[in-house]
Amino acid sequence: MFNPITLTKYGDALLTPPARGGYLDDEEVLPELPGDHSGCGGNFAIFKISEGWRRMTCRRCNLVVEFTSQVKTYGDLRKYFTDKLKPLNN
Ligand SMILES: [Zn+2]
Repeated sequence: MFNPITLTKYGDALLTPPARGGYLDDEEVLPELPGDHSGCGGNFAIFKISEGWRRMTCRRCNLVVEFTSQVKTYGDLRKYFTDKLKPLNN
């Protein structure tokens, strides 16, 4: 079972698309359309914005988050945002 990836301090999370039946491995490489936004039910799209950075936006509510191009898989994305949000949880 794929655990949602929390992206913001407000609790926005990335869910897998219903077509995947909620099953997805953290080792899987992020596609251009990686899944759905927990809050609004829209879907996310990933764009390259520079050599070093990617931007992921929700196509419904316009949530925007950035991450580095070193993030390749769902697991990388989970670790990136877990580390990023850690200071906020203390
Ligand atoms: Zn949204």
